[in-house]
Amino acid sequence: MTAQLIDGNALSKKIRGEVAHRTAALKARGIQPALSIILVGEDPASQVYTRHKVNDSAETGLAATLERYPATMSQDELLARIRTLNADPKVHGILVQLPLPAHMDAKQVIETIAPAKDVDGFHIASAGALMVGQPGFWPCTPYGCMKMLESIGYDLRGKHAVVIGRSNIVGKPMALMLLQANATVTICHSGTKDLAALTRQADVVVAAVGKRNVLTADMVKPGAVVIDVGMNRDDAGKLCGDVDFEGVRAVAGWITPVPGGVGPMTRAMLLVNTLEATERASA
Ligand code: NAP
Repeated sequence: MTAQLIDGNALSKKIRGEVAHRTAALKARGIQPALSIILVGEDPASQVYTRHKVNDSAETGLAATLERYPATMSQDELLARIRTLNADPKVHGILVQLPLPAHMDAKQVIETIAPAKDVDGFHIASAGALMVGQPGFWPCTPYGCMKMLESIGYDLRGKHAVVIGRSNIVGKPMALMLLQANATVTICHSGTKDLAALTRQADVVVAAVGKRNVLTADMVKPGAVVIDVGMNRDDAGKLCGDVDFEGVRAVAGWITPVPGGVGPMTRAMLLVNTLEATERASA
């Protein structure tokens, strides 16, 4: 069997088209969806990510503002800036790019963002809403993975999903979303004994670890859906995921590539969350 690809580029393009359409409808009512992005310091990857977020927004008609501050900015200054944006009715979404400089407390920074503007879905109120199944903002990466499953018409009810990784921004919310969709969910982590025995039982595997070849062909049930969240570099410096793509694609039923899989979906879901924040604020 050769797995079918779940094309994150194509799906994200479709979603961005829908966002553009809904944004135009808001603009026709005199409402301009607006996202404020804060970047503190000079982290090279963060500079690339924030640039993408601004460009994606512009392309779909959302107004994104990138505020750049030096790494020497104090925590109090940052919190004060967030509070100002919280109070600004023209700003619908606020995103503080992580990681923050070492002297800052990221948890306190995120908790200062108004939950109604938490388009990254990292606030504890967003996490709580997901936990109890109430409306909130879902973190963009697992939200994008759910959209990928939806795009292939996959019914998760009664399926066994194995999530590898338990971070607050990917693994844990992913598991909760799969649970909400009625899958039976197993969460694995660095302390899991015999990971392969668990993944071999899975109808769906989501790998969110950050290590190459965490999932190899011998660990996958024939026909399973494999979603690769990982972002790593191979020996040649090329972007790759957590999954041994060539090996696993020969066994799986569906697979997401890296690049061109979860990455573009994460970007698209930020736009969706920003639009959603605007629509809720304007209802
Ligand atoms: P993280 O916070 O470092 O979490 C990694 C998780 O993997 C941890 O829960 C860890 O377990 C677990 N783990 C480590 N080694 C393992 C092993 N050998 N077997 C099973 N589990 C193991 O990372 P993250 O923020 O969730 O990100 C995970 C990956 O996704 C990274 O490569 C990141 O770059 C990528 N990512 C991609 C996107 C995208 O848009 N494509 C977005 C976000 C993240 P413990 O909890 O026990 O330490």
